[in-house]
Amino acid sequence: MQYPEPIAKLIDSYTKLPGIGIKTATRLAFYTVNMAEEDVTHFAQSLISAKRDLKFCSICGNLTEEDPCAICTDDTRNQGTVLVVEEVKDLMALENTNEYHGLYHVLHGVLSPLAGQGPDDINIESLVTRLQKNEKIEEVIVGTNANAEGEATAMYLSRLLKPAGIRVSRLATGLSVGSDIDYADEITLIKSVEGRTQM
Ligand SMILES: [Zn+2]
Repeated sequence: MQYPEPIAKLIDSYTKLPGIGIKTATRLAFYTVNMAEEDVTHFAQSLISAKRDLKFCSICGNLTEEDPCAICTDDTRNQGTVLVVEEVKDLMALENTNEYHGLYHVLHGVLSPLAGQGPDDINIESLVTRLQKNEKIEEVIVGTNANAEGEATAMYLSRLLKPAGIRVSRLATGLSVGSDIDYADEITLIKSVEGRTQM
């Protein structure tokens, strides 16, 4: 027996989310049908507004309602340091520690030869342009995750930026190997910024 079309469509939509297979999608679809109407409406509206009202900052790649983002336009932040992270969620984790007061650059990925992801596929060119335009930036701290791809990306950035006279450092890996920045606890993150090492 086939599902009625509205639920079949809903199942299909849920399967487009990462990590959601057909079984989970089916369970979520039936759950949604049983939710209160106002909750479903609220859910649908937050999906639409997240997509419609958010954009990526043209300077740093952060998610924002206003371009440039609140971090890039904040003159009280240390304009001499840029912390490079893989994803917006890493930036959020670092911001939540309240310990880092410089600027950021979000790569939206890492170098991954196996996945066919090279320098042109992530947000590196805009970092180079930014460094060329802004003479105040003296140090780039590479805060990619402590796994093979994160390390390869850090090495690539170091080789790319050091000849231009930029100091390049790496977040200290009190972050254990293979750990993700957005899962690290605050104390570990604070220590990893303080104890960063020159590359
Ligand atoms: Zn920004």
